[in-house]
Amino acid sequence: MSEKKTKYIFVTGGVVSALGKGIASASIALLLKRRGLNVNIIKCDPYINVDPGTMNPFQHGEVFVLDDGSETDLDLGHYERFLDQSMSKDNNVTTGQVYHTVISRERRGDYLGATVQVIPHITEEIKALIRRAARVRPETDIVIVEIGGTVGDIESQPFLEAIRQMALENEPEATVFVHLTLVPYVATAGEMKTKPTQHSVKSLREIGIQPAILVCRTAKILDESIRNKIGLFCNVPAKRVISAIDVETIYEVPLQFNAEGVGQEVCQHLRLKAAEPDLSDWEEMVSRAKHPSSRVKIAICGKYVHLKDAYKSIIEAFVHAGVANDARVDLIWVSSEDIKQSGAESLLAGIDGLLIPGGFGERGVEGKIESIRYVRENRIPFLGICLGMQCAVIEYARNVCGLKDAHSYEFYAELKHPVIHLMADQEGVTNLGATMRLGAYPCILDKNTKSYQAYGIENISERHRHRYEFNNAYRELFANTTLILAGLSPDGRLVEVVEDCSHPWFVGVQFHPELKSRPTRAHPLFRDFIAAAVDFNHKKKESDPAADEMVARQRVG
Ligand code: GLN
Repeated sequence: MSEKKTKYIFVTGGVVSALGKGIASASIALLLKRRGLNVNIIKCDPYINVDPGTMNPFQHGEVFVLDDGSETDLDLGHYERFLDQSMSKDNNVTTGQVYHTVISRERRGDYLGATVQVIPHITEEIKALIRRAARVRPETDIVIVEIGGTVGDIESQPFLEAIRQMALENEPEATVFVHLTLVPYVATAGEMKTKPTQHSVKSLREIGIQPAILVCRTAKILDESIRNKIGLFCNVPAKRVISAIDVETIYEVPLQFNAEGVGQEVCQHLRLKAAEPDLSDWEEMVSRAKHPSSRVKIAICGKYVHLKDAYKSIIEAFVHAGVANDARVDLIWVSSEDIKQSGAESLLAGIDGLLIPGGFGERGVEGKIESIRYVRENRIPFLGICLGMQCAVIEYARNVCGLKDAHSYEFYAELKHPVIHLMADQEGVTNLGATMRLGAYPCILDKNTKSYQAYGIENISERHRHRYEFNNAYRELFANTTLILAGLSPDGRLVEVVEDCSHPWFVGVQFHPELKSRPTRAHPLFRDFIAAAVDFNHKKKESDPAADEMVARQRVG
C-alpha cells in the first residue's frame, strides 16, 4: 500500500485522564496487526518539553528509552509490548519538537517573510510528523495516532485541529476517530451516567470532529438502553458504543475489545477487508497470567515506590516472567529510605527475591546498599538494574573488600574510593536533555555466567540510560573475589554485567532489560530471576513449611 493509501485511526480521550488511552490504542493496533495488516502507532504529547527525558518521574512516570536512544513517553512501552514491534524516535511527537522545528525554520528565514502562526504552520508540521509514521515502515496500511491529554485542554488543541484537517483532506474511508470516555456509575442514583460522555463528544464536535466509535470505560457492561441513549446524543450508531469494562490484566483488553467488535467496526468504517484476528497465543498468555500454579514475593526497593508509573516496564516484565514460569509475582514495594531507618532484616523478611531499579540522586541509596547486603548474605536471588548494579558494586567493595568509604562519584566529588565514576565522554556535559549514554549498545557475555545461561548467546544488545559506570581502576581489586565481570562492551572497556558467582542468583546490569521484555517473550534475565525465586521459595518451604505462612500472617497483621 503506498503512503497515499495509508489509513489513520485517531484516538482521543475525554472526561478524565488516566482512562487507559495508551492501552486502548495499543489494543486496537494489535487487533489490526493480528488481522494481517501492517500497522504503525504514534503518540502525540501536548507538553512543551522536547522529550520526557528531563522530567521528574513524579511528573511523568517512567521514561521509555528506545533502541535509537530516544527518551519517550511510557505509552511507547505499551506499543512495543502489545505489537512486539520496536519503535523509533518517529513514534513520539511532542509540542516541544514541533515548535523547535518551526522556530528553527523561522530563524533560517524559510517562511519568506510570512507571519508564523499556529494555523497553518504548527498544524502543518504536526501533520507532516503524523504522515512520516506512514513512511518509516514500508507498506504501512494503518497508522494509529494517540492524542495525549483530554479533549478541552488548551494544549492539545493544535493536535486536534491537525487531525481534523487530515480527515478533511483524505477520503472519508481513510480516517476514523475513536473517542475514549468514562461512563460512571453514580451509587446514590443507582444509575450509569451518560452526561460526561455527551459533553466530551460535544466539545469534539464543536471543533469539527465527529467520533465514529466510542469506547466507554465502565464498571459494568452498558445495556442496550444506555448504548442507544449515548448513540443518539453523540450521533454514533449504538453498535459503535463499546463497553470497555475493567479487567484483571491489561493484556485482556485486546481480547475484550475483540469480543465487543472494535476491530470489526474499525475495519468496516475504513472499508478494509481483513481476516479474523488470530489471538490464540495471546489468549494462552492471558490465561497463564490469570491462573498461575505458584507464587513468589519480590521486593522492589526504590525511591518512587508510591508512584508505580515510574516502574511501569519493570512491573510488566515481572508479569511476563511470571507467565514464563507459571508463577504469580507478588511485588512488595519497599521505600529505600525506610530500609535505612528500620533495617533490611525487618522489612525484607520472607521475600524470594530483590530487585533494585534504576534511579538518580543520593536519596535512598544507603537503604538500597543495605538491602543488597541482606540478600547477598542470605543467598536470596537479586537483580540490580543500572543504579541497582552500581549499588551492588559499592556494597561488595564496602562489605567484602573492606573499602568502607566506597561510593559513587554521582553523589560525592571528593571520594577516597569512587568505585563508580563518571563516564569519560560525560565530562564537561552541561546540558541535561538527551546527553546521557542512551539506547542500544552491544555487550559480550562471559560463557561461565548466569547471564549467559539466561540469554543462551554471547553477543547481546540492550538499552541504556546512564552517566556513571564501573570504575576500571578497581578491576584489580575485584579480580580475586567472587564478584565477576560477566559482561563487557566489545572493546572490553565498559563493565555491563556483574555477578556474584558464589551466590545462587546475583546479577547486576548497567542496562535496562525491562525495556525489551514482551508478554509472549519474557526477558531472559527477568525469566531466570523469577525461576531462581521460585526455586528459593520451594527450598524455603521444604526446610521450614511454617515460615512462609508465618511471614504472610505477619504482613496481614
Ligand atoms: N544515576 C545513575 C547514572 O547516571 C544510574 C542511572 C539509572 O539508573 N538509569 O549512571
